[in-house]
Amino acid sequence: MSLGLVYDEDYLLHEHTPTHPERKERLQYTMDQLEEEGLLADPDVSIVEPSMATDEQLSRVHTQEYLERLRSMSASGTGMLSVDTHVSAHTWNTAKLAAGGVATAMDVVATGTHDSSFVMARPGGHHAFANDAHGFCYLNNTAVGITHLQAEYDVDRVLLWDWDAHHGDGTQSIFYDDPSVLVMSTHQDGMTLFPGTGDARDVGEGDGEGYNVNVPLPPKTSDEGYRTVVEEVFEPIAEQYDPDFVFIEAGQDNHFTDPITDLGVTAQGYVSLMEHAVDAADRLADGRLVASLAGGYGIEGGLPYTNLAVIATLLGLDTDAIREPAVYEPPSYEPDVSDVIDRVKRVQSDYWSI
Ligand SMILES: [Zn+2]
Repeated sequence: MSLGLVYDEDYLLHEHTPTHPERKERLQYTMDQLEEEGLLADPDVSIVEPSMATDEQLSRVHTQEYLERLRSMSASGTGMLSVDTHVSAHTWNTAKLAAGGVATAMDVVATGTHDSSFVMARPGGHHAFANDAHGFCYLNNTAVGITHLQAEYDVDRVLLWDWDAHHGDGTQSIFYDDPSVLVMSTHQDGMTLFPGTGDARDVGEGDGEGYNVNVPLPPKTSDEGYRTVVEEVFEPIAEQYDPDFVFIEAGQDNHFTDPITDLGVTAQGYVSLMEHAVDAADRLADGRLVASLAGGYGIEGGLPYTNLAVIATLLGLDTDAIREPAVYEPPSYEPDVSDVIDRVKRVQSDYWSI
């Protein structure tokens, strides 16, 4: 299995403040971990240089007014999109390189250069809307990549599974009326976590009605809960949608050590999530799969270990030896996901056999 790992040291340039959870050390610790474990020397792994997103690629997703606002804010050297989403001199170019990185990943998989690709980029993108952004995001990398893929290659239907702990409100909004992208999101429920959206009743609108699937999970949901959701919701809907391409918004902030969320997934749980994604891609989309890093803020613990777990899984390596960065203490109760699954099934049964 050959993997194109999209990475560039310029992804380290954009900064908020030195103590902001979304800082350059997220990628530095991960790349160190991959090197220590020998993955960067693996003959099946190639570092792929990202290209900068073009104006044409960006304008498929974002308004000119927003792009100009972000560019000029960054050119001035300082600004804020929201209280925790700062703009600095390098933000514009780093964000364009992250969005271009997803487009590059699409290219290397669509042309068959690599079997799969993982985009090790920052800043993230799934809280970026057509005309605004928040939540540490600026440009919607995923939407830029998917619309590029659909414009340049013979790809009609893309299955997008956003497994980040936070609901991808920007991505949902961009594809809300678009049946050519099935957006499935598993996330910590909006009553207990930013950005507060992602209700199970949000199913899309217009031509896109039925092509948005939200599974809001209770705090502390762990590997077992995720496995149940995958088997009872994700797999049957994916099967019926029959995508040409699978995209994973790989938020690594479901890990039990993550400092800003409250879920309970382990590194081995991430192996299982990616195994399901690979299996869906193999069965439904000729194996064509791209994954892109989203959140993940356990900079020295959860993040490098979960990144290692999903990348090793993409490569088909033996993952049994992947350790946890800390001892997992299960909660005194197992969060019950059955109510959520029943609710999702009731809503989605108007569109899918589920
Ligand atoms: Zn997140």
